Amino acid sequence: MTVTDDHVQPADHARLCVLASGSSGNCSVLVSQHSGRRSVCLIDLGLSPRRTSAALAKLGLWLSDVTDVLLTHLDIDHCQPAWAAALPADAHVHIFRGHVPEAERTGMLARPLRVFTSDFELSCGAEVSPLRMPHDLEGVIAFRLNWPRSSLGFATDLGRVTDGLVGHLAGVDVLAIESNYDPMMQRRAARPEFLKRRIMGGSGHLSNAQAAEAAQRIAPRDHVVLLHLSRQCNDPELVSRMHEGADYAFTISSHDLPTRWVNIGRPDAPRAVPDRARPVRNGRSASLRLPTDGQTEFASQPLARIAFQAGLFPLLDGAEAPLQCRPQAPGIDQA
Ligand SMILES: [Zn+2]
Repeated sequence: MTVTDDHVQPADHARLCVLASGSSGNCSVLVSQHSGRRSVCLIDLGLSPRRTSAALAKLGLWLSDVTDVLLTHLDIDHCQPAWAAALPADAHVHIFRGHVPEAERTGMLARPLRVFTSDFELSCGAEVSPLRMPHDLEGVIAFRLNWPRSSLGFATDLGRVTDGLVGHLAGVDVLAIESNYDPMMQRRAARPEFLKRRIMGGSGHLSNAQAAEAAQRIAPRDHVVLLHLSRQCNDPELVSRMHEGADYAFTISSHDLPTRWVNIGRPDAPRAVPDRARPVRNGRSASLRLPTDGQTEFASQPLARIAFQAGLFPLLDGAEAPLQCRPQAPGIDQA
């Protein structure tokens, strides 16, 4: 399916695909269509232009379609300098003012940038609310995107989860949040102690448990997308256990392959309303493995049924299947 399949999409619609996520590169694509306006927004530019173009082409998109870019921060796995010359001239690149000095160092200032310090609007009319969070020296931006009937929270490379972050993203339809490491695997990993301290010290990354707790507190309406899993210190199976039985469907991103499209809001279908007072239940109900390509996606049974009825998962046949995770490719990363 491509974005040109308008006959199966509501008139007002937004959806997210994580092209890749991890310390080897992060890039997601957000396509939205509201009030007759379509926009294609990249969130982070951590893959090479060539690889990004190839991934977009498989979705029926071209680099020339890109109208906006949101940059969470400018670490090399989120912003490759080659993009300064590779983006369409009329694409709006949105960058936090505190990241401008780093943009100058990396050469991103060679192209016009839209510097933000507070809320702003994307080309499609979505309102973007940025929130600065601790991460290394320069910090990172967590975004909340609001459309008239739907919302997305996007938060990665977080030092920790704060009350401010929870309040900022509370009740979004789709929450994309990092789930970087398993603490036991991190402690046992053959990597420098300073790196472990940096990652786990409150200004690095979120553990699986921290991510699950954040999702529980934020209480997304429909879907959680888990980002930035460490190859060396995490396992998709461990991540999936943290979210089994939750009131939302969830997708685990990959270093190497794109997720399927995750719909943001369902304006033409009844919404699943989670019981906000109920904590995430780990391992209490059977899960379904959705038959997808290059990703791991799960849903608790009731929500999977709702999603199927709403046409969100056209490949889902409702049959119960054992929980399976795609094996991770070997490799060493820094997070
Ligand atoms: Zn990163």
